[in-house]
Parts: sequence; structure tokens; C-alpha cells
Amino acid sequence: MTLQFSNIGQRIAQGSGIGELMDDLGAALATGDPDIKMLGGGQPAQIPEVSEVWRKRLQEIAADTVASTKFLSIYDPPQGNPAFVKAIASLLRDQFGWDISEENICQTSGGQTAFFYLFNLLAGEMPDGSHRKILFPLVPEYIGYAAQGLDKEMFRAFRPEIEETGPHEFKYHIDFEKLEVADDVAALCVSRPTNPTGNVLTNEEVAHLSGIAKEKGIPLIIDNAYGAPFPNIIFTEEAKPFWAEHIILTLSLSKLGLPGTRTGIVIGPPEVIKALSSMTAITGLANPSTGQHITQKLMESGEILSLSRETILPYYRKKSRIAQQAAHEIFGEKFAWRMHRSEGALFLWFWFPGLPIPTTELYQRLKKRKVLVIPGHHFFFGCDEQDWKHRQECIRVSFAMAENTVREGLEIIAEEVATASGNSL
Ligand code: PLP
Repeated sequence: MTLQFSNIGQRIAQGSGIGELMDDLGAALATGDPDIKMLGGGQPAQIPEVSEVWRKRLQEIAADTVASTKFLSIYDPPQGNPAFVKAIASLLRDQFGWDISEENICQTSGGQTAFFYLFNLLAGEMPDGSHRKILFPLVPEYIGYAAQGLDKEMFRAFRPEIEETGPHEFKYHIDFEKLEVADDVAALCVSRPTNPTGNVLTNEEVAHLSGIAKEKGIPLIIDNAYGAPFPNIIFTEEAKPFWAEHIILTLSLSKLGLPGTRTGIVIGPPEVIKALSSMTAITGLANPSTGQHITQKLMESGEILSLSRETILPYYRKKSRIAQQAAHEIFGEKFAWRMHRSEGALFLWFWFPGLPIPTTELYQRLKKRKVLVIPGHHFFFGCDEQDWKHRQECIRVSFAMAENTVREGLEIIAEEVATASGNSL
């Protein structure tokens, strides 16, 4: 047999940088070596009080014949379970006063699938033969978007402005002076809070982007995987959730501690919701029901809000503070380093200005010492500025793991960066 793959097959079925990296992380974990410091993945922490809520819900469902049949044995409509969709619409209306109803909401198999559908729905080859693109107003952006385009060169991105915000601290901003939204742009897309940096775009930046998108007659996609109202991993109080008729907002149950249920939620214009539901029917018939059934009662009662606000947010905020403090203690003034201001999500984003080796090499050296991080260049897709050295000077470090694991990992990172900088500790 001479097996051949189609163009689309070649694009998405023959591996990707991130796929290899995820295999690497998975293989390291599979060894079961207790010395491995896994600071690379996007795995949410196991928060005991939250895990207990999910265990209780599973017990309630298992004890109820009707609920357990719905949980396991019924195909939902492709848009999602109607009661769950209704609960989300009420929650967002009550919480934020947004003018939305069930026709603005659908479920997908995780946020990741929502992006695959959205990007390929809006961009790529158009009926008139032209090609449209998704524009990221600021990179670094979420690595999981990078290989999702079914058409070639589907993404365009812009380099940010860098503001020094404190000792060893900086923040990326959208460079609106340089941002050009050409006529071939199908949609703008941002994650807020941003994976990998923990950046939370300011209310002004979001309003400005929304204005540009509205004027151009295109959607602004806001990836709210870590945002409000759940899981609410946002440390800056001034950041407000945003909605308008041309916004497509995505939510996920993953960072509530339920990534295994594969539950994403999209809020958008009715014609987009209809299109996504059709894509679900064609590719998968229906979506997983388990996450919807586990959380539906909490969505209806509003308990999801208190769980996010009172348990999940303080848990990650504390972990972020401890990790930042450890970085200051351990890195000190031993070499040039900066950390993006930690405003949300699960990661610290370190920048080593002038690092003599690329972070791909630093990644390999750290891996040899059993510390797994993500080298930063993967997050700079869509932006082909070869002379921009910054792309090879950053790494993403998760702080969701145990405190001593993060600390020991940072100590080894410090040793390797110091050695690479010709400044052995
Ligand atoms: N968007 C962002 C910014 C993420 O970090 C992730 C996962 O880590 C996703 C989307 C996809 O999450 P899921 O498919 O688990 O909902």
C-alpha cells in the first residue's frame, strides 16, 4: 500500500511542534520518575475543595437513575444540552446584564475544538477564491492555535509593545500604532487572560479592538478559558468581561478542574452558533454530556460563581505570589531576567534578555536535568520577524504544581541560565 495524505491531512495529521512537545511532556510523566519537575503542561491544579464538589456531583448522579441515564446514555442535540445552554444564558444575563439568549450559545468538545471550528469557519479559502486570515493583535499567544488552520498561512500576528512595570517585571501591550487590520482579515482573536504570559488585556485595549472589529464588520474572538465568570483566574480587579453583538466569547470547564469532560462553551451571534452546531453534527454528532450534567446545577444556582471567586481564584493567586517571590529570591541579580506581570492564568512567563543560547537549547538542557518547561518561540506564530531575538529568550513555567516542585525547578532554571550566560553559580 502506498498511503498518501491529502493537503489537509498533511497539515494537521503529521505532527506539529506542539504535538512533539506534548509527547515529550507525556513521555517524561509516564516514566513515573518522582524527580521530574513538570512545569510545562497546562494541567489545572487538583484543588481538594473543588475536586470534592465534583466527586459529590458524581455520587448524586450515580444514585439517580434518570440523571445517570442522561449522563451516559443519551445523545444531546449538537448545540448542547438544552437545559445547560439555558442555564449558561441565564447566568451570563444575571451576572453581567448581557442581552443574550439560548440562540447565542453552543457547546463544543473543549475550547480547543471551538477554535478549530471558528478559525476554519471564518478564515481560509473563501467562495470568491480569496484567502482570509485570523489576526492576533499581540503575540505571544496560545500555542494551541498555531497548527489549527486547514488553509495555508491562515494566521497573522503583531509584535507587542513592552512596558517595564517594576523590578524584573514587564507587561505586553497591543501596539495600536503598528496594528494593521487589512481587508483580508476575517476576525481578530485574543486570549484574556493570555496563555502563556498571564497578561490580561486592559479594558481600554479590549474596547479599542472591539471598535476596530465593529468598524471592519468582523468578529473579535475572546478566549476566556481562564476568565470570568468561571474559572475566574484573574488577579486584576479592574478587568471587566466584555460582550457585544460582534464578539465571540469562549469559555471552558477545563480550568475548573474538569479537562477530562472536554466541555467548551461558545457565546456568539446566532448564525455562528448555528454553524458551529452543524460542524459538531458533521464531525462528532454530539458533544460529551458529562461536564454539562456535572455542572448544570451549579450554573443554575450560581454556586459556580462562589466556587470560582472564593476557592479557585484565591488558590491560584496565592500560588502565583509564592512562585513570583521564589523567582525573585532564586534569580536575584545573578543574570538578566524579567517576568511578565502575573495578572491571571496558571503560568509565569520569563524573559532572559541577551540569553546567549536560544530557549530551544535551554529547554533541552533543562530536560536533561528533569525540569520541563515550554520554550517560548512556539507562542510567536504568525509573526515572521526573524531579527526579533525576544522570541528566543522566553520560557513558560506553570505554577499549578506543588510549591516545592516549582521552587526546585526555578533553582535548576537559575543554574542553567547562569551557566549559559557565562556566570556559573
Ligand atoms: N484556550 C486557552 C488559552 C488555553 O490555555 C486552553 C487550554 O489550556 C484552551 C483554550 C483549550 O482548553 P480546553 O480545550 O481544555 O477547553
